[in-house]
Amino acid sequence: MTEKELLDLCVKYGADRAFILDVDRIPFDENLRTYCEMNSCGTFGINYACPPAVGDAQAVISEAKSYSKALIFQTIGNLEDSFDFEGMLRAERDHEEVCDRILEEVSSRYPNYLELRVGGCKVCPDCAILEDAPCRFPEKKRASLEAYCMNVADLAEKCGMQYINGANTVTYFGAYLIK
Ligand code: SF4
Repeated sequence: MTEKELLDLCVKYGADRAFILDVDRIPFDENLRTYCEMNSCGTFGINYACPPAVGDAQAVISEAKSYSKALIFQTIGNLEDSFDFEGMLRAERDHEEVCDRILEEVSSRYPNYLELRVGGCKVCPDCAILEDAPCRFPEKKRASLEAYCMNVADLAEKCGMQYINGANTVTYFGAYLIK
């Protein structure tokens, strides 16, 4: 499959924009871990795919850099207003469905890939870390771009995308790193 065919598939599956860049062009920043530690998303320490369990900053950056190409895509959801929390959740669910469709293609074509989505891993309703048990599906575990210390605003710019797409919209990003 050519890069163009893969990008076209992303759009066909619901991504608003998609781009492929070399992994060595991804802007990594170890200092972004500070935001995870502030725990504004509420998943710090309670999900295997979030810090600190996901691995220290240097380890995850090194893991990401073991891949050669990055497929980056975004979905843009519409909101009634900036307080439309339900709309944000709906847009996130829509984004997850787009990710699922793209995952099917990527997993069937690339034996080695790293999947990154929004927030902590949502494969299980409650992460096994809460029971102090091992991850139930390590092969499905998915972290966020931010947990891998990617500066998503800068990354969007490198991909010719807007990080924010105007009033009353919410934008979500996904990524597949491939060898
Ligand atoms: S697969 Fe389940 S147990 Fe493993 S990180 Fe994801 S939510 Fe947690």
